[in-house]
Amino acid sequence: MPRELLEKTGVTVRDAVPGDAVAGVEPRRVALPETVGEVAAVLRACAAHDLAVTPVGGGTKLHWGAPPERCDVLLDLCCLNEIVEHAAGDLVVRAQAGVTMGALAETLRLQGQELALDAPPDATVGGTLATAACGPRAFRYGAPRDLLIGVTVVLADGTVARSGGKVVKNVAGYDLGKLFTGSYGTLGVIAEATFRLHPLPADRRWLVAELPPAHVSEVAEALAASQAEPSAVEIDRPDASAPVALAALVEGTAAEPRAHALRETAGGGEVSERPPPWWGLLPGAETLVEARFVPTALDGVLEAAREHGFRLRGSAVSGRLHLAPVGEVSAARVADAVAGFRERTHAAVLLASPYEGVDRWGRTGALPLMRRVKTRFDPGRRMSPGRFVGGI
Ligand SMILES: Cc1cc2nc3c(=O)[nH]c(=O)nc-3n(C[C@H](O)[C@H](O)[C@H](O)COP(=O)(O)OP(=O)(O)OC[C@H]3O[C@@H](n4cnc5c(N)ncnc54)[C@H](O)[C@@H]3O)c2cc1C
Repeated sequence: MPRELLEKTGVTVRDAVPGDAVAGVEPRRVALPETVGEVAAVLRACAAHDLAVTPVGGGTKLHWGAPPERCDVLLDLCCLNEIVEHAAGDLVVRAQAGVTMGALAETLRLQGQELALDAPPDATVGGTLATAACGPRAFRYGAPRDLLIGVTVVLADGTVARSGGKVVKNVAGYDLGKLFTGSYGTLGVIAEATFRLHPLPADRRWLVAELPPAHVSEVAEALAASQAEPSAVEIDRPDASAPVALAALVEGTAAEPRAHALRETAGGGEVSERPPPWWGLLPGAETLVEARFVPTALDGVLEAAREHGFRLRGSAVSGRLHLAPVGEVSAARVADAVAGFRERTHAAVLLASPYEGVDRWGRTGALPLMRRVKTRFDPGRRMSPGRFVGGI
């Protein structure tokens, strides 16, 4: 593919280097659009020459999902990094996809507001939506798709499509934002997003306690139902023989007495102005499983993690935990563990794995329908082909 084909769009293009690889697949060129129009121009050029495209934001999670079947162009959104509008009075912000969560947080902080997603500062708006990862406070504020109220996407043929807008209940027709959240770049490019914001809480306190595994479920349930209204109840178990660390966050007025009320409910623990060091961080990088389950199934997930020698971390009350192996792993051990987690959960997805042979997604009910959605949005299979569930 001659570089001039892309350069004719007027967009900055460079040759790819090994560090640009997407899950081990090296693209040939990297395009750096600076406007939504330029994203559309690159995708039109790629459509005309049947070039496969993978979007990238911060590049922190390019190893999540299967390697793409082909990748000619890496569409790097780092230059699409403008906060287009912050309507502080309406608690709404519109930002381009390449804005980092750190930069967004800083702008919002100046007006005493926040996007309550807990994402790491180097992740981008687009990457956070495309992976749909949830943080501790999803218990109170919801997942990325719940805080997203409008989106601008660019489809594989270069069409720019908008859905939703600046008010909270605003989608007429299908909600494109929900469809693109968690789509891993396989339907098109998220170019801009509008989010609902919250005022920064006046105060925060964490209750941190250690519990025997057999008590975690009962204590977490009682904390979630408490009138002290925690924003998050998280657990961490660094290895199979360790007790479980539990931390609950209260935000807003009277945080200190509310945290002490939680302490009573938990039967002990320390109240702190700072989170524990593991708060909001993933428990592993190279091999990582996300388990989703009804909260009453927590005991079974703790037991499965112990059996398979996995550490775990995440929300005890939203039914969402991340699990990572302790020590050496093999493909067979990962496959066994994932099968064990699937028996006890609603879904266990292998987000990251060095082994290609292990089934990443598990059984997916609506796969034929998802394939039809993919075909409608990307008939030429050019958007990150093969990365998503069922090889979509
Ligand atoms: C609360 C929370 C805590 C987290 N903690 C950690 C942690 O401790 N450690 C850690 O490593 N990660 C953590 N993550 C996960 C990680 O930060 C996110 O998944 C992140 O959003 C990835 O952003 P990125 O910009 O680096 O995406 P990238 O790595 O660039 O891309 C990720 C995926 O999204 C696609 N994509 C990117 N941009 C777009 C776009 N504009 N349109 C369409 N598709 C796109 C890519 O093709 C790729 O498939 C956390 C996330 C959350 C929400």
